[in-house]
Amino acid sequence: MVLLDGKKLADELKAEIKKQVDAIKETGGKTPHLAAILVGNDGGSLTYVGHKVKACEQVGFKSTLLHFQDTSVTEDFILNEVKKLNENSDVDGFIVQLPLPKHINADKVIMSINPKKDVDGFHPVNVGKMTLGLPAYISATPYGITKILERYNIETAGKHCVVIGRSNIVGRPMSILMSGQSNTGNATVTVCHSRTKNLKEITLQADIIIAALGKPEFLTADMVKEGAVVIDVGTTRVTDSTAKNGWRLKGDVKFNEVAPKCSAITPVPGGVGPMTVVSLLLNTLKAARHEV
Ligand code: NAP
Repeated sequence: MVLLDGKKLADELKAEIKKQVDAIKETGGKTPHLAAILVGNDGGSLTYVGHKVKACEQVGFKSTLLHFQDTSVTEDFILNEVKKLNENSDVDGFIVQLPLPKHINADKVIMSINPKKDVDGFHPVNVGKMTLGLPAYISATPYGITKILERYNIETAGKHCVVIGRSNIVGRPMSILMSGQSNTGNATVTVCHSRTKNLKEITLQADIIIAALGKPEFLTADMVKEGAVVIDVGTTRVTDSTAKNGWRLKGDVKFNEVAPKCSAITPVPGGVGPMTVVSLLLNTLKAARHEV
């Protein structure tokens, strides 16, 4: 069984990005600049944005965090902040950390981002381009998973890939990428969701399972065929009094019993999560180079 070490791979990719940023700076080029809008003080969001800012520092990017602690900020206010970032020529790409407070329409905010700066790849223009196989910003988690498959030489062509989850940010784009014509695609894909019947019968046919449903330890050994590749996207905070913070991150896969059956598997933490952050850096580098 191969442990698909996302942390190690992310560190390697960050070193590669840093080299490229150093080269840009040495030749007098502009430092890539990622900005983020964060509203409120949700613990998870603060942690994620913190990781992104830290990663920018590690690779030599400039980063700007626009943190509005007051959750009563209006939709118009956030739309105006997006407009300013769209117009700021020093900012190559930016993200709006989700979730936003309920009174702000997240779809409207995403639609207002200039697609050329949409390094989260959530804008319909980028989703559409990705679907057509055109150069696009691919949303960070699916992009990170394709990098894991690529760097670990996981064969995907002709394989049956079962994606559990159909969210706009993980399951659906992942299913599109896996069925696309690329060196990490060409799979035959089945997308499952909460209304899927006989899920176990389907997962047992899978050569590759991508679990992205947010239900801790949902995928058990009896649902996985011998030799399958399992990618665990789930990250749920589960209360644990023995842990330093009082909680522990749990994936969607019952790792201890599933891992022995797999040819390769990602751990949680240290699998998909670190690759998500690196993918955002890769997208920002593309933005700085005007590649999309
Ligand atoms: P989401 O928007 O809640 O979507 C969950 C999907 O799972 C939905 O499509 C849902 O079906 C499906 N689902 C729920 N229960 C199911 C069941 N019993 N059987 C089959 N399908 C079921 O979640 P998300 O944003 O995609 O995130 C999924 C997980 O990945 C979460 O744990 C999240 O924290 C994690 N995540 C991790 C990263 C990372 O960097 N590691 C990034 C993003 C997300 P319906 O559509 O029918 O409701």
